[in-house]
Amino acid sequence: LHDALPISILNQKVNGQPLVYFDNGATSQKPQVVLDAITQYYSEINANIHRGVHTLSQLATDAYEASRAKIQRHLNAKNPHEIIFTAGTTHGINAVANGFAALLQSGDEILVSAMEHHSNIVPWQMLCERTGAVLKVIPMNENGELILSEYESLLSAKTKIVTVNHISNALGTINPVEYIIQKAHAVGAAVLIDGAQATPHLKPDVQALDCDFYVFSGHKVCGPTGIGILYGKEEWLDRLPPYQGGGEMIATVRFEKTTYADLPHKFEAGTPNIAGGIVLGTAIDYLNEIGFEAIAAYEQELLEYATQKLEQIEGLRIIGTAANKTSVISFNIGNIHPYDIGTIIDKLGIAVRTGHHCAQPIMDFYQIPGTVRASFAFYNTKEEIDTFVAAVERSLSMLK
Ligand code: PMP
Repeated sequence: LHDALPISILNQKVNGQPLVYFDNGATSQKPQVVLDAITQYYSEINANIHRGVHTLSQLATDAYEASRAKIQRHLNAKNPHEIIFTAGTTHGINAVANGFAALLQSGDEILVSAMEHHSNIVPWQMLCERTGAVLKVIPMNENGELILSEYESLLSAKTKIVTVNHISNALGTINPVEYIIQKAHAVGAAVLIDGAQATPHLKPDVQALDCDFYVFSGHKVCGPTGIGILYGKEEWLDRLPPYQGGGEMIATVRFEKTTYADLPHKFEAGTPNIAGGIVLGTAIDYLNEIGFEAIAAYEQELLEYATQKLEQIEGLRIIGTAANKTSVISFNIGNIHPYDIGTIIDKLGIAVRTGHHCAQPIMDFYQIPGTVRASFAFYNTKEEIDTFVAAVERSLSMLK
């Protein structure tokens, strides 16, 4: 898979050493087809969409809408207008949380999990402040798995929305979202799934999952930054008020009253990231060409190989040992600060993330300041893992 299609940024030296890029959880690298598609858009059909009768505008609009339809098929959504282009996961979650302000009453409850990214915590806290709703937390165990019996006892008629990640960015845990959705629906609550970390590794089927909302970011699936997707069931998107007002999202505007456009435009105010939307379709095609089954199987091999090698390092503790886990390894070694390891191995050409990974409640749970996180993609190799493990060992000899 490493040589599947060229990703030229990977073939460079950083600090005089061949780059080993293990920060895929933060963002993915971009294949040549994606870079070419960006250039092609701006050099051949750049124009504003949905606005002009002229040919370029129609070409740009057609390409943008074709990409929406592609993403609809990828997620197996029922309708293309259930696919909203956003700036990314954070934008998608904020759009839904903001919409729920109109539906919640004081005392209603919102359930988040103990392993959420800050972007799936803070918008809901802001919503609670506005509405008097109460935030409740689904706890997890030491392995980094949600405690489902406790989840079930938190659910009640007061629960209006449950919001959890499909895969945790800090722990790699794959959450049992089907089960979570089923139980939430049994009490009449809606469910938002944060798919930011899942979409690089698997192909979600939103109808099979039966989730009400599913959000992800283009930049984590080999696409550009500044583009993402909010999937919402039609009936929910119809119920929620729009997040932003402006051009494109209206049917009629009078000073006395404005009426909103139909879906998906109601949620797409202003000139969107046209190139980003089109090129996200290219990135999704690229991943489907490689195939998500092949990606998942190969990444699982990388995960097992790296876990086994890292476990041989004395004093190394893996944070996040769920039975069902993707290719993310968070770890600490003794009392060494993660930042120190990260800084030394960067000098050896290795890119990992260190810190709290925008998930401070997880770090509080384990009572640690942060972790070193290596997150693998399909374009990584076992040889790179060998280089990485040797670099970690070398950093230890300097830090101990
Ligand atoms: N949720 C999770 C699980 C994530 O990993 C991330 C990105 N690290 C986000 C949300 C936020 O995504 P973005 O910054 O692209 O909006």
